[in-house]
Amino acid sequence: MRLSRYFLPLLRDTPKEAEIVSHRLMLRAGMIRQESAGIYAWLPLGLRVLNKISNVIREEQNRSGAIEILMPTIQSADLWRESGRYDAYGKEMLRIKDRHDREMLYGPTNEEMVTEIVRAYVKSYKDLPLNLYHIQWKFRDEVRPRFGVMRGREFLMKDAYSFDLDKDAARHAYNRMFAAYLRTFARLGLKAIPMKADTGPIGGDLSHEFIVLASTGESEVFCHSDYLNFETPAADTDFDSVAGLQGIFDKWTSLYAATEEMHDKSAFEAVPEDKRVSARGIEVGHIFYFGTKYSEPMGAAVAGPDGQPVLLHGGSYGIGPSRLVAALIEAGHDDGGIVWPEEIAPFDVSVINLKVGDAATDGAAAQIYQHLLAKGYDALLDDTEERPGAKFATADLIGVPWQIIVGPKGLAEGKVELKRRAGGERELVSLEAALDRFK
Ligand code: ATP
Ligand code: MG
Ligand code: MG
Ligand code: MG
Repeated sequence: MRLSRYFLPLLRDTPKEAEIVSHRLMLRAGMIRQESAGIYAWLPLGLRVLNKISNVIREEQNRSGAIEILMPTIQSADLWRESGRYDAYGKEMLRIKDRHDREMLYGPTNEEMVTEIVRAYVKSYKDLPLNLYHIQWKFRDEVRPRFGVMRGREFLMKDAYSFDLDKDAARHAYNRMFAAYLRTFARLGLKAIPMKADTGPIGGDLSHEFIVLASTGESEVFCHSDYLNFETPAADTDFDSVAGLQGIFDKWTSLYAATEEMHDKSAFEAVPEDKRVSARGIEVGHIFYFGTKYSEPMGAAVAGPDGQPVLLHGGSYGIGPSRLVAALIEAGHDDGGIVWPEEIAPFDVSVINLKVGDAATDGAAAQIYQHLLAKGYDALLDDTEERPGAKFATADLIGVPWQIIVGPKGLAEGKVELKRRAGGERELVSLEAALDRFK
């Protein structure tokens, strides 16, 4: 992408309405624009990051055996009357009427709809296990939308739903998501700790929230500090191994970790004092096992091995990709701006042409840029008329992991400068050596 032709509406001043650093930086870096309270348009830079996060989530869901679908955002109220949640859900649900006066709603979650789909098609125990997920916008009319996309009213969610014949099988489905979540957050460069959690309006009796520690987090959490150094499940984890996944679950729940609602003071005090973490955290994911809570009222059953109908045992599993964009910035920034982890940065490399119009500089910058594109990198070429200082500030603000700085002085000696955004290290290298770094 040539910056001169891109749409990157940067803000010079720090927006006053933004209370936390991720919100400020997302506005300054031209990633999002508020359209109504808690409702945002995603601008090109923000959308790139959102898509990259969604893709990591998708890859790990697929690896674990979940299958992607796409359900609509608008749902029928009748579906929610079947489960009894239409009235129970309260004011967070945005209720709409269509032209025929039929009651509709903008989905805050999809347990009912996916149960309806499975009920229609899945008739035999042989069709199980099944885990269907989608990545779709949700709407919750939050009392206090704030902190930008961290707590939006419209927000993106990956929600998966598992269906099994009995509680044991459903436990395995739960463990699959548990391990997939550990891998997902690790790939995003985040240390997310699974903590015992309240099941809330989803219902059920087994639940974990995945929490990233951050001073700006809205949850109060308590855990053992050793979790911060636990190893995450490897890429070749066998998701069909019941014992293997139970082992991962057991290890990752062996020490104390609980959200405020589930906090047990005396159990926490049994943790050695120097290992006690009492902090604030951001809920980035949440998994539930709820048994037959939806299959029973909605009549979702299959024929078991003996031909008798068996109610499906379910679980649901959410991650907030849009909240994650903000959480990643809370975890990765400095005075200059955002510092993205390499896997989800909007661009891999930024080529900064310090003297647009100078034939040699233009030529070298274009050569590097074309090389990067040919090798499959997402490259950004700063070919604008801005002064060098402004270009450096822009590159730092948007947080691209690598900068290749091309100027007439260096080029006179055949050199360009390579800068790593994260540590700030700079290196003067030959043009060939720079190209060689990005093979
Ligand atoms: P919170 O406690 O922050 O209100 P929740 O417990 O209501 O979240 P869940 O129903 O567990 O949320 O939804 C699954 C995931 O969706 C959450 O873990 C979070 O990552 C994301 N999420 C929920 N509400 C929002 C929101 N208002 N804005 C952005 N992401 C959200
Ligand atoms: Mg909520
Ligand atoms: Mg919550
Ligand atoms: Mg939750």
